Amino acid sequence: MTSRLDWIQQELDGLKEAGLYNHIRTLSSPQGAWLVVDGKRVLNFCSNNYLGLANDPRMVDAARKIVDKYGVGPAAVRSIAGTMDLHLELERRMAKFKGVEAAISLQSGFCANLATVPVLVGKEDVIFSDELNHASIIDGSRLSGAKIIRFAHANPADLEAQINAAKGSYRRALAITDGVFSMDGDVAPLDKIYEVTSKHDVMLMVDDAHGEGVLGAGGRGIVDHFHLHGKVDVEIGTLSKAFGVVGGVVAGSPLIVEWLQQRGRPFLFSSAATPPDVAACIAAIDILEGSTELVDRLWENTRYFKAEMKNLGFDTGHSTTPITPIMLGEAPLAHEFSRELYNEGIFAMALGFPTVPRGKARIRVMISAAHSRDDLDKGLEIFARVGRKLSVIH
Ligand SMILES: *Cc1c(COP(=O)(O)O)cnc(C)c1O
Repeated sequence: MTSRLDWIQQELDGLKEAGLYNHIRTLSSPQGAWLVVDGKRVLNFCSNNYLGLANDPRMVDAARKIVDKYGVGPAAVRSIAGTMDLHLELERRMAKFKGVEAAISLQSGFCANLATVPVLVGKEDVIFSDELNHASIIDGSRLSGAKIIRFAHANPADLEAQINAAKGSYRRALAITDGVFSMDGDVAPLDKIYEVTSKHDVMLMVDDAHGEGVLGAGGRGIVDHFHLHGKVDVEIGTLSKAFGVVGGVVAGSPLIVEWLQQRGRPFLFSSAATPPDVAACIAAIDILEGSTELVDRLWENTRYFKAEMKNLGFDTGHSTTPITPIMLGEAPLAHEFSRELYNEGIFAMALGFPTVPRGKARIRVMISAAHSRDDLDKGLEIFARVGRKLSVIH
């Protein structure tokens, strides 16, 4: 008997044949430098837990205390009965941390992009979008109905050419770029991009998901990194990566925040973040404002690991952040490398086409402040062994 859903099985089989099927591993331990993955204890080079906050006792404590006080669920959207004083405190604290006038929090970074792009532009408008922007920017852009014009990756000159070519064809224009690109670990040239957008009176939005808690003084993000305070119109951030919890944030002018409260659909139609999530995020800001120790250790670990990998003869691409690609070429080699690492006790992701271009397959190592020097040395030793075995290095 055939069913109306048989096509799904065919699609899934197709993915498996093409080697594109996602095999999802299961953790049975907290986040940290070491994980139990599918029952095996492994060194973790996969998570976005840049500062090790996901299981920090201070964060756990803050969440636990607020659960006793406010319970676990919001039970409403923000615009009806879901806004607690806690949400407003997070937003005030976040704005202060980032040196912006106002901020609004959402349920995730993904939601923040889906909320923000459609309130800024519509059918009569255009979006200039870096060709490597994150899926949530692409989806938010599509939802807005605006015309999407891609510009060459991290290329302000091409952005300007695209703006000039589109002149006169739109009402409003918005340029959007990731801050840190998650596949290569490169940073958008936001200062140069700002020169172009301000010259042409185009609104500028940056998605700092991998820069929040990582770039800038004490992890204040990409705008701080480039000293562009007050110049970038909208900063999207996530509380799910370096902040170690879950949630999204939109930072900038109070006008944008007020407009999102009126028109941002994930704000209006999806329930508020839970009290323990919000309390833990506030605790993360306390930690970051209290000391730069974790951010400093993250960068120290990053410099050490990259330098040692280069000494071993690996090609670590052009990353300037803790995201460390190990360039391997073809996807089957990257997958084999990842399997060998896992057998030796390292959890590191292989990325191949279509996630990255053909011939640019890699292992992506995510460095964290949670890694000790011993952890990194252990990782380097195993990388060297697997690299020699698979003739990637000599
Ligand atoms: C991870 C990521 C997001 C999504 O953030 P979540 O909080 O996990 O939903 C959005 N944008 C970029 C650039 C990201 O890397």
